[in-house]
Amino acid sequence: MKRLIFLGPPGAGKGTQAKILSDTYQIPHISTGDILRAAVKQQTPLGQKAQDYMDRGELVPDNLILDLIKERLAQPDANQGWILDGFPRNVSQAAFLETLLTELDLAPDNVLNLEVPDDVLVERLLARKRKDDNEDTIRRRLEIYHKDTVPVISFYDNRDMLKVVKGHAPMESVTASLKKIIEQ
Ligand code: ADP
Repeated sequence: MKRLIFLGPPGAGKGTQAKILSDTYQIPHISTGDILRAAVKQQTPLGQKAQDYMDRGELVPDNLILDLIKERLAQPDANQGWILDGFPRNVSQAAFLETLLTELDLAPDNVLNLEVPDDVLVERLLARKRKDDNEDTIRRRLEIYHKDTVPVISFYDNRDMLKVVKGHAPMESVTASLKKIIEQ
């Protein structure tokens, strides 16, 4: 049973690594970005509300995300553990998650911060060609990351929960570093 929280800037490779670890440990990969993109594709009420924010590179408002996470963590497969990717993305989401997990009498086993320099991120994101991967949106997402998400790193560091992994390395060696931390 593993409960993992993945932090890191857009383009750090969280999604790729989270998928690998999800297979390795047989736990669900819960990506708020993937959930939101599926909602946009299906044009559900959530998707319709989220779309503009996502296209602009802004965070979707917390009220669209918090219930979604609460419900997702209540699904039966989440009893086996989970990897959160893309959540929490600001301090209020982190505080919400802390309260929720305390209520459920659960604690994360690891909070992993995948560190990658900004210039590498821009290069990777431009190569990826997702709809929100154009230069203006990328710049905006990095700004939002520094303003809203970097404080989440301190939130967990203050609680002595944070582990840092260098994400600017071959994929396999990043996976190996992550597993080493998770399994120690
Ligand atoms: P990336 O890692 O490239 O930023 P994600 O797939 O994690 O991509 O997120 C894509 C977009 O989805 C974000 O730019 C944001 O608009 C929205 N999003 C994802 N997770 C959250 C969240 N926890 N809170 C608010 N918005 C989110």
